[in-house]
Amino acid sequence: MQTHILWFRNDLRLHDHEALAALAPHVSLLLPVFIYEEKLFKKTPLTALARISPRRRQFLDETVQDLKKKLQKIGSDLLILRGQPESLLPVLAAATQASVIHAQKEYTYEEVASEKAVASQLTHCKLSFFEAQTLIAPSALPFDVQQLPNIFTEFRKKVELSCRIRRSWSSPIKLPPLPDLSSCHFLSKHQYCPQESLPHSPKAVLPFVGGETHALLRLKHYFWDTQHLSCYKETRNGLLGEAYSSKFSPYLALGALSPVYVYEEIQRFEKQILKNDSTYWLFFELLWRDYFKFVGMKYEQRIFYKNGLMAHKNPKTYKNSLKDFRDWCQGQCQQPFINANMRELAETGFMSNRGRQNVASYLVKDLKVDWRWGAEFFETMLLDYDTTSNWCNWQYVAGVGKDPREDRYFNIPRQAALYDPDGLYVQHWLD
Ligand SMILES: Cc1cc2nc3c(=O)[nH]c(=O)nc-3n(C[C@H](O)[C@H](O)[C@H](O)COP(=O)(O)OP(=O)(O)OC[C@H]3O[C@@H](n4cnc5c(N)ncnc54)[C@H](O)[C@@H]3O)c2cc1C
Repeated sequence: MQTHILWFRNDLRLHDHEALAALAPHVSLLLPVFIYEEKLFKKTPLTALARISPRRRQFLDETVQDLKKKLQKIGSDLLILRGQPESLLPVLAAATQASVIHAQKEYTYEEVASEKAVASQLTHCKLSFFEAQTLIAPSALPFDVQQLPNIFTEFRKKVELSCRIRRSWSSPIKLPPLPDLSSCHFLSKHQYCPQESLPHSPKAVLPFVGGETHALLRLKHYFWDTQHLSCYKETRNGLLGEAYSSKFSPYLALGALSPVYVYEEIQRFEKQILKNDSTYWLFFELLWRDYFKFVGMKYEQRIFYKNGLMAHKNPKTYKNSLKDFRDWCQGQCQQPFINANMRELAETGFMSNRGRQNVASYLVKDLKVDWRWGAEFFETMLLDYDTTSNWCNWQYVAGVGKDPREDRYFNIPRQAALYDPDGLYVQHWLD
């Protein structure tokens, strides 16, 4: 009897899942596991905030529960635990005599540390990775990740010229049963208790509900039911309503939606409905997501450094007024446009890309607060928190990334006049 363990991480879906698709026919017993890692319940290092807000946690809970239900429907289940993967997985492997633990490869500092810790504790079981975080697999890049161009456009041109995007994997129809866990008494000490549900804000762009089911419904709505994709490029800087952008990010961040599947659906849309600048532009934005993941691989912990990727330059100095930071977090500073965006974030866990650029610039360039405080606050609050997208975008805005325009500055009243000319967005959130 071959027993394998599938350690779910940021790959909380059945569609386009290499391990699920490839394993089902070959193993006798399969144990899918999700672990709420203790680091999630710690405080952020600089600002001592909870690392995960109740709303972000709810979105994660919904995603995990949706996966559990889907696995149950195809003959399996999901073991949900709270603890340290390096303590729990080796014990599970020993108890079930599993020979392999499969996991999606992660590339950021804490996640890699976690992988190493698990591997170091395994004796008769190996840890095997598959690559599914990005649209372009790291192994398909036309250069070594250490040679990643420092300018996005150069990266984009190179990959567009020579990269092949793999085909997505089909969802499994039936999975092998679970191994017997009746002797695993330690499991009761690692039960995870989901928190009580919070109501959705009626003002939110979408009532974001976590999970693959809702991710696929959102894609169907945005691409096929409404065809909003056909004008994405013109609307993507919007602020109000569900239509201005895809809102795929919370699903992509947890892997409830696969970037490769999104890409295939863009291609299908281009064949069946329309191919234009907008359909290309969604692909272009997915390349930004990939690019920052590769930046994270190349620069590792430096994406968290105060001076970012600009170690050779004089460090920037900040005033770091606690009051200014608190007012910014609470949407109580001098600029109504900033306050409206920050209230949206607090009430819903989401903010548009235009909003994020403005509030980040305001915190760093106008209030002169260390950009990492803002990045930590975003980590706490964003439903779509994604380590590299968050920290690398903040570095860009703060001028410590590899942005060719180092002194990018957002004039807030001018931005408000351009993107919220009638003040409807500010009114929506501040009235
Ligand atoms: C300071 C700051 C922090 C950010 N933090 C995050 C974060 O933690 N998680 C996150 O997913 N995005 C982050 N972004 C990027 C971007 O704002 C969001 O991806 C986007 O607003 C999500 O909405 P959407 O899915 O409707 O995007 P769409 O406009 O529909 O774009 C489609 C997808 O492309 C990707 N994408 C778009 N813009 C970017 C970008 N600038 N960088 C990387 N990927 C992008 C996302 O995966 C997004 O879902 C941040 C941007 C800034 C300026």
